[in-house]
Amino acid sequence: MISFSPGPSQVFPQLPKYFQEAFVKDILSANHRSRTFMNMYQEVIQLFKEKLHMPDDYQLLFTSSATENWEIISQSLTIKGTFHLYSGAFGKKWFDYAKHIHKSTEGIKFDPEQGIEPFKVDIPLDTDIVCLTQNETSNASEVNMETLTEIREKAANKLLAVDATSSMGGIELDFSLADIWFASVQKCFGLPAGLGVLILSPKAVQKAEQIGEIGRYNSLNFMLENARQYQTHYTPNVLAIYLLQRSLQDREEIQFTDRKLRGRMQELENIVASKDKFRYLNKFPEQRSRTVLGISGTESMISEIKAAAEKQGLVMGSGYGSLKNISFRIANFPAIDDEQFEKLKGFLKEF
Ligand SMILES: *Cc1c(COP(=O)(O)O)cnc(C)c1O
Repeated sequence: MISFSPGPSQVFPQLPKYFQEAFVKDILSANHRSRTFMNMYQEVIQLFKEKLHMPDDYQLLFTSSATENWEIISQSLTIKGTFHLYSGAFGKKWFDYAKHIHKSTEGIKFDPEQGIEPFKVDIPLDTDIVCLTQNETSNASEVNMETLTEIREKAANKLLAVDATSSMGGIELDFSLADIWFASVQKCFGLPAGLGVLILSPKAVQKAEQIGEIGRYNSLNFMLENARQYQTHYTPNVLAIYLLQRSLQDREEIQFTDRKLRGRMQELENIVASKDKFRYLNKFPEQRSRTVLGISGTESMISEIKAAAEKQGLVMGSGYGSLKNISFRIANFPAIDDEQFEKLKGFLKEF
């Protein structure tokens, strides 16, 4: 089966080779304070810089999920509260998580088709961090880099945190536009779930230091202390980190992946536009995600297309949350190869 589900999503076909290597090279039993692990951590940081264009002075931390990153941000970088701009289920969930930790968390829901109008947004004065979801996986919408640039200007004296869980590793992100970025590896990284990354600007690191230690396990200061020596404060998922390292080594630089995914999305959009049966989940091209295609339709059309796809060995992604019965989604992620993509196109054209 070829999976077009936007998470957990199809993994890179090279994985069996990497698993084998990890076993042969004794990675699976490597101690996280060993030279082997430290070299691996250091190389992942280097690869994020080389392949994904993470700025030189940004720090990368390993966590276990994007969800965990939501909580770390509230626990270790927030004094009063965060301010959330969201349009769909994931942004809303992040907002809800934050509210559990800080009472003065605030948020504004914006229309995914309208997008954020940065100059109309009033950021509460005592907010520590402005939070947004760059790629809202649930409704297949994105906040593009132009809008993010405007938000950066508007929130110049705040930290900016971006959930890029379903776009990092797929499209080119301008990391310099925000202080906190995070993702987990089961989306555009094409790897099995269970590893998250948290990327911090010097300003974010400074803020963590200023706040000091709160708690222990998810204390950013404690994590950073270990990260400076390319270690982690707990025994991490070494295999997942190895898979991340190896897959990044074999990957092209992000601008090429970005170009390829944008080209593929354009091809999919041409098919959607040419067929009466399909309607975009987000009608406005400017706000549409480049890594997740959302198509809306009647409940019967959706179950029909899922069943027809399955007969051809293709798995369509379900709608998410409240959009479950009125949409389906197609992941446009890098692990999908050309042949599989052609098969998808053929199927959609015929349906
Ligand atoms: C998938 C997803 C998450 C949750 O990721 P986990 O690794 O399950 O914590 C968060 N935000 C967005 C935008 C996502 O797509």
